[in-house]
Amino acid sequence: MLVSDLFAQLGLQQTNPGACSIRWIETSGPVIDSLTPDTGSVLGSVRQATRGDYERVVAESSHVFPRWQMTPAPKRGEIIRQIGEELRAAKSWLGALVTMEMGKILAEGEGEVQEMIDIADFAVGLSRQLYGKTMHSERPGHRMYEHWHPLGPVGVITAFNFPVAVWAWNALVAAVCGNTVIWKPSPQTPLTALAVQHLVNRVMTRHGFDGVFSLVIGSNEEIGEAMIHDRRLPLLSFTGSTEVGRHVAQGVAARLGKSLLELGGNNGLIVMDDADLELALRATVFGAIGTAGQRCTSTRRLFLQQGIAAEFIENLRRIYGQIRIGNPMEPETLMGPLASEAAVARMLNALDEIRAQGGTVLRGGNHLGGAFAEPTLVLAPPGLPAVQKELFAPVLFVTEFETLAQVLAWHNDVPQGLSSAIFTRNLTTAEIFLSHVGSDCGIANVNLGTSGAEIGGAFGGEKDTGGGREAGSDSWQAYMRRQTTTINWSGALPLAQGIHFL
Ligand code: NAD
Repeated sequence: MLVSDLFAQLGLQQTNPGACSIRWIETSGPVIDSLTPDTGSVLGSVRQATRGDYERVVAESSHVFPRWQMTPAPKRGEIIRQIGEELRAAKSWLGALVTMEMGKILAEGEGEVQEMIDIADFAVGLSRQLYGKTMHSERPGHRMYEHWHPLGPVGVITAFNFPVAVWAWNALVAAVCGNTVIWKPSPQTPLTALAVQHLVNRVMTRHGFDGVFSLVIGSNEEIGEAMIHDRRLPLLSFTGSTEVGRHVAQGVAARLGKSLLELGGNNGLIVMDDADLELALRATVFGAIGTAGQRCTSTRRLFLQQGIAAEFIENLRRIYGQIRIGNPMEPETLMGPLASEAAVARMLNALDEIRAQGGTVLRGGNHLGGAFAEPTLVLAPPGLPAVQKELFAPVLFVTEFETLAQVLAWHNDVPQGLSSAIFTRNLTTAEIFLSHVGSDCGIANVNLGTSGAEIGGAFGGEKDTGGGREAGSDSWQAYMRRQTTTINWSGALPLAQGIHFL
């Protein structure tokens, strides 16, 4: 696939303006290059937005908001449906751009666009289901109910590893709820963001709703910080590392805004000795190596029950030796590059530290040139300090355990709490894992791996993962404000709690 064809299909130029609201803005900030991690070559460039450009975007987004929120939700849903159609038509082009710019393999690049399509479909259904509850009033002749209202312009800051899907989770649900959306993507993946904005513009211009979805590509210092402290953004949804997320949360809380946090994971997969080991093996390999170990839900810690551990590790070593590593655009490739050479350097430094702490590299651990590294297995004794951190690389810590109680304690003994999994054929073991004394994560799976969530469920995690929930179930409520309403049709004025006054 030629880059020139791809750019033409997605409306991109070699150098692009980095902001769009009601129209594309002639931005005047410094130019950043988008590098493909595969070869390190420049794919295209973006002239970043300045603080002045940001001000214009927020003003336009705020201006469009009253008209958008007055549009009935099912009509908003119909417009989102048409965005879903644009995404369907663009799936292979946009998926290829995700692969070129982020480095995940083509099947995963297209899978990410499919996730956008799925959430668009979900948002369409949601547009007729923004339900509130009705309560029985304690006062005669009164009716009480909850009404959900939009918030206003919602800020969305996204991470490099899911450059388009995370925008869709937030933006399409937020918009169906009646909000306008301002997106700051990762500076590592600006072209995919521009391409999405072009696709969305095709639909929104047709309906006279330019400005509902806006884009601002700019530095963390100038644009990111502005969003954190901007009282015009009642909600800031942030996806990224725990370190930056903590900073974002504190800044937004200081202005009493709402933040929705989707931060780092450190996900464990437990294999009991009664498990279907073939299933467990496949799930482990996909979880640890998929997206080169750069998913928030990547499997980072593998717990093997004594008795099956030795053979399981041998099988893992064998499969790790067969993983086809290379150009992510080639259909037979199973693992592409990491985000950059710097990401590989961080992985190698971490491995040195792990060895110094008493971990043993069982397989892998080598730089393969450029942004490529071998997927790596590490035998981790219980309590290895390095296991506490999210290492955003294809490194899997393997630990043996004896009992369920022991492994649950080890499993939960990390700061993060995103995704978790157990493989077992024992119903009681599965139920304990899923109970309040089991996994402490936002996602807990039985006989499937930690990564690859469906959009229908609420996605997110506890502890240092930030507590946010996005995508399906009732996650839409985060993008709305709840109003409790009481209507008195009794002709009298009884007070609650039986109080008599006047
Ligand atoms: P990152 O924290 O470095 O950056 C995330 C975003 O924050 C980027 O857009 C970045 O430009 C922005 N940012 C950085 N400093 C900022 C500041 N001062 N103010 C405002 N914005 C700022 O993360 P990353 O390397 O892009 O992504 C990897 C991380 O994201 C991992 O920790 C991963 O687990 C996490 N992640 C979590 C989820 C989830 O749903 N829980 C999903 C994807 C990624």
